[in-house]
Amino acid sequence: MRYIRFEHEGTIGYGIVEADRVMFMDGSPFAEYSLTGTSMAFGEVTPLSPCEPTKGVCIGLNYRDHAEEVHAAIPTSPVVFIKPSGCVIGPEQQIVYPPLSKRVDFEAELAIVIGRTASKVSEADANSYILGYTCANDVTARDLQPHDGQWTVAKGFDTFLPLGPVITDEVDPTSLVITSRLNGTVCQNSNTRNLIFGCAYLVSYLSHIMTLYPGDVILTGTPSGIGPMQPGDTIEVEIEGVGILRNTVTC
Ligand code: MG
Repeated sequence: MRYIRFEHEGTIGYGIVEADRVMFMDGSPFAEYSLTGTSMAFGEVTPLSPCEPTKGVCIGLNYRDHAEEVHAAIPTSPVVFIKPSGCVIGPEQQIVYPPLSKRVDFEAELAIVIGRTASKVSEADANSYILGYTCANDVTARDLQPHDGQWTVAKGFDTFLPLGPVITDEVDPTSLVITSRLNGTVCQNSNTRNLIFGCAYLVSYLSHIMTLYPGDVILTGTPSGIGPMQPGDTIEVEIEGVGILRNTVTC
């Protein structure tokens, strides 16, 4: 399935995307739902962030190529931080460049979307708690990252978590091409096979720390090639089989 959350004529709802059509849903993919029988061309609805997480749980330094790029040791346990829910924006919405920062970076990431409440789940059971996968941009005020010894400030500005355009369960997260393009120029180009900690492991590990709720996202880390954005720029995150997440930067 490919799930979308959208706005249409003032109403917000969920749907299933098939080819270029959206089948409207009663309910949501995080609970019971049925199809209403109404459908519309994809271009006739406005895609929103495909879920409304209570938090974005993010993993740092989780690609071998990125660890090598910054000459960092391969982590022996996941580096974890959180983005607050107010960071979330959807496709085509604007990333706001904060006046406090002089360097704001993009980080293309595969996001796991939690489908049902997960607490202390085993790695063997973890996949049954995953609704699917979406594209994410872990926007980072790089110059503020070393500022206070942890990353809440650098990672936590409003609009710093673009998500979308769809959630899909039709991909194998262990082998997906992941790319970012700044104004059309490829900056990051890697594959999720380079992940150090895989998706099922991360869901299990994190669920032993905090309860993961339906719609929560886990950002699995970014590959090499990160870089800065400026107001007016367009940044795209593309993940094979998932789609393209496009946002612009404003001041
Ligand atoms: Mg990141």
